[in-house]
Amino acid sequence: MSSEKAESAKGRATSFAKISGRRSSPAKTSLEHAADAQWGRGLSTFVRISRLTLRHPWQVAITIVSTFIAATLQLFIPRLLGRAVDQAHGVVSGGSGGAAAQNALWVTAITLLVVSILRGLFTMSQNYYGESVGHRTGYELRLAFYEKIQRLSFSFHDKVHTGDLITLGMLDLEGVRMFFSTGLVRVVLLSVLVGVGAYLLISTDLVLGLLSLSFVPFVAWRSSVTNISLRLTWNTLQERLSVLSRVMEENLGGIRVVRAFAAQEHELSKFDHSSAEALELAHKRVNIRVSNTSAMNFSFLAAMCLVLWVGGNKVIDGEISVGTLASFLTFMTILQMPVRQLGLMVNSFARASSCGTRLFELLDLELPIKDAPDAKDLVVTDGTLRFDNVSFTYEGAGHPTLSGVSFEARRGETVGIVGPPGSGKSTLVHLLPRFYDVDGGSITIDGQDISKATLQSLRRAVGLVQQDSFLFTTSIENNIAYGNPWAREQRIERAAESAQLHNYIAGLPAGYGTIVGERGVSLSGGQRQRLSIARSLVLKPAVMIFDDSTAAIDAGTEQRIRSAMKRFAKDRVNLVISHRLSSLMHADQILFVEDGRIVERGTHEELLAMGGRYRALYDLQVRPGDEPLQTAEAS
Ligand code: ADP
Repeated sequence: MSSEKAESAKGRATSFAKISGRRSSPAKTSLEHAADAQWGRGLSTFVRISRLTLRHPWQVAITIVSTFIAATLQLFIPRLLGRAVDQAHGVVSGGSGGAAAQNALWVTAITLLVVSILRGLFTMSQNYYGESVGHRTGYELRLAFYEKIQRLSFSFHDKVHTGDLITLGMLDLEGVRMFFSTGLVRVVLLSVLVGVGAYLLISTDLVLGLLSLSFVPFVAWRSSVTNISLRLTWNTLQERLSVLSRVMEENLGGIRVVRAFAAQEHELSKFDHSSAEALELAHKRVNIRVSNTSAMNFSFLAAMCLVLWVGGNKVIDGEISVGTLASFLTFMTILQMPVRQLGLMVNSFARASSCGTRLFELLDLELPIKDAPDAKDLVVTDGTLRFDNVSFTYEGAGHPTLSGVSFEARRGETVGIVGPPGSGKSTLVHLLPRFYDVDGGSITIDGQDISKATLQSLRRAVGLVQQDSFLFTTSIENNIAYGNPWAREQRIERAAESAQLHNYIAGLPAGYGTIVGERGVSLSGGQRQRLSIARSLVLKPAVMIFDDSTAAIDAGTEQRIRSAMKRFAKDRVNLVISHRLSSLMHADQILFVEDGRIVERGTHEELLAMGGRYRALYDLQVRPGDEPLQTAEAS
């Protein structure tokens, strides 16, 4: 069972490398090979995390020195306590030296107080700076992670579930962040406490020293086993929780579909199933923890009884003083906690190894779409767009999504793209802002290959209005000005006017300051699309793409938008994808796409005259007795 879990964890660990298309390590011939590779990866992960923490050398140095001093001071405490017991014993037994013994007791008590205070202060410094290093490292990793997911290509995002990325950015990052304070610092603490402490005890009394330390191997072993078991169940629990958040995310995202299909029962049972699995795992974890804690407590108390028994006899025989026995017992009590924490340390190493491996794998992913080494800013002069024999296939797709696509459009021209669903229309326009790179042929703007232009300048030159208009939870004004936060109020209003949204916005109590998005005012599908059109109009790009962006807008409003945008369309190339022929029949050139190829091209009239697929679609959309579309358009 546990090997299955390890497998599943391993599977997750290598998933990003597979997705990125990088070659994973060759098939292992034996378990040893696999273990070696795991160790090698773990080791390089630790080295990398350590290097990250060393970016804060002062904080790291203060933490290590503080830990060292705090542990050393802690070792003084049993000795001082033992001495105090002997001195108290001397005071109680009286005699001529009674007053001197009392003074000595005072001195010991004050020394003990000072040592305890100093130890407390150094422990505070250790915790403060240790946490500080962890948080700074976490902050840097979080930024690097966020930047990476902003830059990773669409082919990556197509395959990775958002929930998994969020888990990676939250939980895995936390595992790496905690490594310094819970892993590395504990190594120093435990080494000093166990190493020096054992030496002091054994050099004082060999038998009693060994007995005092007898619980250490058992507790260290149980604690490590417990923490490793907890870690494995934690991995599985994390996966279950990930499933739960995915189920919840989908449920909330698709809440209207769920209600419309009265599927609440089905959704509840799905959630219940995942929840029950998480509950079962949580119970298992509690069992592991409780049974092992009891075993560790028992072994510690058994060792203490032995020390009391043997030590007591030694005191009776006059071999050691009561104070020495007391110092042995105190040392055991002090040592108990750090030894138990050995498991946490082992856990911290295991967690950092798996979390770090996953995280670094993502951070190291090659960016397939990035600026070429000799990339230059795109300079738009005439504004001529050209597709030259472009072909493209999605990763893993059996056949080409686009092949032999060629067309040219000049500034002021509109190209209509029509074709059956799945024929490759959206893919064609997604190649323009380089969401994906072409496999063959080229796309140029004013003769400059877009793959040689900087991404920033290219994406500034290409505006895309999609069918799904995403709104950020902020004001309408900010949503419209998203691509150009410095856009003036007038420009924003003009864009909204062209998109036929200004009147609606002006009628809202808070006007352009109205908050929209998930927690704001709900806009209808058509209003969202219009807002999305306005967002692109503000940019004034060289190429403007409307990807079925008026599907949720009624024909009348669409007609008004088109009229209002005439002036805007004059200065750029316009690509319009639509199922509604009335949206594209005015285009200078219409491309009919089927199975990734342009099968018909021409103006509306030419295509009608051709009597092919376009004609068939036209006849389908204009029912007998209806006014011809051309007439409706002209009115
Ligand atoms: P259209 O816009 O004409 O409806 P698309 O360009 O969206 O068509 O899709 C063309 C083909 O590519 C379809 O078969 C679709 O399933 C496939 N496809 C679309 N997007 C992806 C993707 N991100 N990954 C893999 N295949 C995709």
